[in-house]
Amino acid sequence: MSSPRYLTCPDCGAAVDRATGSPHRCDPVRQAEYELLGRRLECDAFEDGLRHWLGTVDGRFETWLAVRRVRGAA
Ligand SMILES: [Zn+2]
Repeated sequence: MSSPRYLTCPDCGAAVDRATGSPHRCDPVRQAEYELLGRRLECDAFEDGLRHWLGTVDGRFETWLAVRRVRGAA
């Protein structure tokens, strides 16, 4: 089994050609955008999990309790 010619840089997501022999240097802008994409995916996963939890019995109770606290009833 042969190694792939291109590898994905774990820091910036660029396809790095291993055949060139020159070391890869991350483009700072690309690196920032890649990191932002990762954070955005984490936020999306968190929001999906929260949305699911809010639909559970515990989530509905906590929502009800929070509304009471905000309105000063609790
Ligand atoms: Zn890179």
